Amino acid sequence: MSTTRQLWGIGRLAGDAGNGPPYRVSGDDVRKDFKAAIAALQSLGVGAGDHVLFVSMLSEAAQVGPFELAASRLGARYSSADAQQFDAHRTATLVRRVRPKAVLGVNAAVLAGLDEIEVDPAVGARPDAIDRIPGATWWLPVGPAVAVGCTAGRAAGGHVDAGEWRIETDREGQVRISNARPERATALDRWPTGILASIAAGPCGCGRDDPRLVVTTT
Ligand SMILES: [Zn+2]
Repeated sequence: MSTTRQLWGIGRLAGDAGNGPPYRVSGDDVRKDFKAAIAALQSLGVGAGDHVLFVSMLSEAAQVGPFELAASRLGARYSSADAQQFDAHRTATLVRRVRPKAVLGVNAAVLAGLDEIEVDPAVGARPDAIDRIPGATWWLPVGPAVAVGCTAGRAAGGHVDAGEWRIETDREGQVRISNARPERATALDRWPTGILASIAAGPCGCGRDDPRLVVTTT
């Protein structure tokens, strides 16, 4: 049996507060997403010797795992905290103690548990929190992927890896996502993400040319 098609695990498509439908992820999928995650972290300025804090839910392991691997490959260290109010103290403590270069995945629940918002690091925020964090950029779960902002700032939107995903909008302006490669363990064909956004193509100020989701309503 080919090792590239072996099951890595079962993820959850983004949506419904982490309870989206399950999907199969192969080891090869993770390796491909890992390469894209390296580009995403680099576009946020993360490099060797930096620290990255991921704020996520257990159900997001398939989406966040490749970013953790990517941080390690870049020579950065990483920590994790739950994207829930009861764990906000962990986010606050880690921000104070390890001075992360980037804090990714902050949501409204975590903000509700924080006394103050540290804005020194690059913050990747979810749609329910981005308006409340000055200078934050996007951490936008999109089905099986994450659209990640960059040094070009919030207005530039969040990049989606064009090597793995094809994004388009439907008549209602909803973002739909499909596999760019047929080899992925789960075939997704225009899966409705529930996100209203426009798609920006062409080069970005950060240097990446992967398309960007620019959210029109949050
Ligand atoms: Zn960019």
